[in-house]
Order: sequence, then C-alpha cells, then structure tokens
Amino acid sequence: MTESTYRIQGATGEWEVVIGLEVHAQVTSNAKLFSGAATAFGAEPNSQVSLIDAAMPGMLPVPNKECIRQAVRTGMAIDAQINKWSRFDRKNYFYADLPQGYQISQLYHPLVGEGAIEVTLDEKDPDSAVKRIGIERIHVEQDAGKLMHDQHPTRSYVDLNRSGVALMEIVSRPDMRSPAEAGAYVKKLRSILRYVGSCDGNMEEGSMRADVNVSVRKPGDEFGTRTETKNVNSVRFVMAVIEHEANRQVDVLESGGTVVQETRLYDPDRNETRSMRSKEDAHDYRYFPDPDLLPLELDDAFLEECRASLPELPDAKRKRYEGELGLTAYAAAVLTAEAETARWFEALLAECGDQGMAKAASNWLISDLFGALNRLGLDIEHSPVSPKQGAELLKLVADGTLSGTLAKQVFEIMLETRQDPGVIVEEKGLKQTSDTGAIEEVIAGVLAANADKVEQYKSGKEALFGFFVGQTMKAMGGKANPKVVNDLLKKALA
Ligand code: ADP
Ligand code: MG
Repeated sequence: MTESTYRIQGATGEWEVVIGLEVHAQVTSNAKLFSGAATAFGAEPNSQVSLIDAAMPGMLPVPNKECIRQAVRTGMAIDAQINKWSRFDRKNYFYADLPQGYQISQLYHPLVGEGAIEVTLDEKDPDSAVKRIGIERIHVEQDAGKLMHDQHPTRSYVDLNRSGVALMEIVSRPDMRSPAEAGAYVKKLRSILRYVGSCDGNMEEGSMRADVNVSVRKPGDEFGTRTETKNVNSVRFVMAVIEHEANRQVDVLESGGTVVQETRLYDPDRNETRSMRSKEDAHDYRYFPDPDLLPLELDDAFLEECRASLPELPDAKRKRYEGELGLTAYAAAVLTAEAETARWFEALLAECGDQGMAKAASNWLISDLFGALNRLGLDIEHSPVSPKQGAELLKLVADGTLSGTLAKQVFEIMLETRQDPGVIVEEKGLKQTSDTGAIEEVIAGVLAANADKVEQYKSGKEALFGFFVGQTMKAMGGKANPKVVNDLLKKALA
C-alpha cells in the first residue's frame, strides 16, 4: 500500500485520522535501572528482586550507567537533542504490582529531546513517499511488576521480576495519518533499536509495546479529541487498533456524540477496543522531583563514547548499498531492514572477496536463501548454510562451474546435508560442461531426431530455437554450459 492519504468515508463527508504513538522499549541491560538485580526474561517469579525493587524502607536508588548510556545512544540514533542535564520525577499512583507507590520517571526534564525518524511506506516501490515522523522526547523510567490471577480458588499473585527494569518511553508527535504509516513507524523504530542494541524489540515478550493515540477530524480542521489504547504488542495490532478506533470515533461523531478522552484496552480476540478509565492528566499524578536522586549530568567524554559506539544505521546503510554496491532500492531496503540480515549479507560479500559480486549475492540471498529459510521457518541467524558456503556457491556460478539451474540443485543439497558446495559438486558430478566435442555430439543427435522441426526452423520458424536448446540441455542432464550450447546450436543450424 503506497497510499499516503487514508480517509474514512462517513455520511457527512471524508474524515482524516491523526495518530501519535508512545512506545515503551525495555532497555537491554544486565541490571535494572536503579538496582543490581538481573533482568533475564522467563526467570522463576520473584527470583530477580533486590530490596530496592521490593521498595523496602530506607533503600536508595542508584542510576545504572549502562541504562543511561543505552538511552543516550538511542537518542543519537534518531537524531535527537541529548540533554546534558536531566532529572528524575516521581509519578505517584497505587497499583498492586508497584510496591513503591510511585514510578520513577522523567516528566519535566527528559534525557532526550526532539528527534525524528524517516519511514518508507512501501519499500518495494522506489517511488514510495518517505515521511519524517517527529519524536517529541525519550525519557527513562522504571517498569512495574506483574500480577497473575487464579480462578480456583480465587487468588492473586505478584511477580516483581520486572519491577524496576529500565524502560525508554519514546513519544512521537501526532504526525501519522494512516494505519500503514503507524505500522511502518513501529517497524522502523524497532529496526533502529536493534541496530543500536538498546532494546531487543521482542514484542511477544513485551520488550516493546505501544500506547496508540488516535483522533479523527475533517481534513484541515483542528485536531480532534484523542483516545489512548494501552500496551498494544504487535505491529498488526497497532494497525488494527487505529482502523477500529478511527471508525468508532467517526460513528460517534456522526451520530451527534462526542469523543471522550479516555484510556482504552484492545482485545485482539474480538478485534475491538473497550473503555478502561477516563484519561488522567499529569497533575493527577502529583509529579515531583525524586528527592532520592541527584540530577543526571552528562559530560562530553561520555557523550563522545556513546556516539563512537554507534553502528552504521539502516538509512545510511541502505544509501551505501544503493550507491556503492549498485543494488536496487528494493534490495537495499530488504537487506538493511534488520541488523542481522545486513550483517549476514556483509559477511557473505566479504567471503566473496569481490564487491563486483554484490548484485549476485543480493539476488541469491533475497530469493534463494530467504525462500529456503521461509520454507524451513528459520531466522537468518539459524541458517543451515553459512556466509562462507554461500560465497563458495556464488563463486562456482561466477567461474562457470555451475549453471543457475545446477546451483539451485547444489543449494538444495547444502540445505539438507550442510556440506560445502565444492564437495557436493565433486561427489555428485554436478559440474557443468563446456566440452564442445561432447555438446556437439548431443546436438547432432537432437537435430537428427527432429528433422521435421529443423526444416520448419530453416523456413523461418525461429521460435523453435528454444526447443532445440531445451532438448540439448535435457539430453545433457542440465549440465551443459547454456552459452556454449547456444553458440554451437547457432553454428549447427546455420
Ligand atoms: P499525555 O502526556 O497526556 O500522554 P501527550 O501530549 O504527551 O499527552 O501526548 C501523548 C501522545 O499522544 C503523543 O504521542 C502525541 O503525539 C499524541 N497525541 C496528542 N494529541 C493527539 C491527537 N489530537 N490525536 C492523536 N494523537 C495525539
Ligand atoms: Mg503520555
């Protein structure tokens, strides 16, 4: 869908949807934001809880430098202003999985200010519009614990493993105008976080979740009242929430009602949103600077170290693949969308030892390898074929040992046996032959057996040439060099 204008047709005319996302991303760090407790996913309940995370009286939080560093690096990756002076605030509310009775967050002076990311709606389409989505801020805060409920007997349990884990809250501007744009934004943001290594982006495990703010208006009008749907945990659901919520709001407005600013919950089973509570305002939380913590002050050396540790990011990489390697916009976008794919491709190219093979390598990776991984249900990190083996296969094609068809056969065997392509070619005798004597003999046989077609060809039915090529290749078990076959056939038929 390249469509950049998304409209809902109502009885009173067309409506436009306005979207802003607040993404919570769990910071990749071995320890929590203010304690030394571990953060591994899936541990025994309450096995990773320090006295600080359990809010024992008298315990004092100490910021974990690594968490701050990751948030700063993320800010730099989205081209944002990094605030050398920031501060933590208490956000007060009661919740059974929040033993402190408040969350330590940053309201007034966040660590990261204004930034932006660029999204492409359809990477297959080189003319697809690129849109810049503003990011208002990134602040750092603590996660809460988790409640679990039993039905028989009725009991509730609390697991504090997640309590105190560092989150980055990445707040976008209300710049998105369609479900597709919001989906592309979440994907791009996740890709950047993974490149940077500041969040694993794993939405199923809850490492990344979005609060989806949606309002509707007639094009050109002021922004309408928004609702916020909490904790949406997949790209598909983000898009479904917007679609659903925008249509619901149009229905409400067109039947003479008003949209209430409220917090809603998404139910993926029924694909609907339900009201959870009326929206609270910042003043309801009685925010105030946390007296247990000094302001954060970052020095230049720290900032320089953060910047120096950043990898080449997806946009820069994509442009380099197009410019330096001569790949198509589509191939460059596919290869750079995930850090792991780019890493694999670069290892493959390094093993080829020749940048001139970039196109062949990219084609093979995108169609053959991705096709196989798809079939096998594997990620590229778990590819049964290594970059070194892939490069060896490509080199056998480049030097004429294998035709494209034979290369596909060898690749299938590689997937099964994990053997090197050179070994397979030797063992199965899959080499393509350019032996002109042998090919000429086969051609003579083919022409003799099809004397009638040779007559037709000579009297002008040139389309039959392909038939002769096919017959010759078939007689040679697919192992003849197609270029040599073409040349020799032309000679024989002249
Ligand atoms: P709050 O602090 O109450 O959560 P913010 O002003 O911080 O409100 O905005 C939260 C999110 O809501 C941001 O991502 C912002 O882009 C989005 N947003 C604000 N106004 C609208 C609107 N009218 N329609 C859709 N999204 C909006
Ligand atoms: Mg908010």
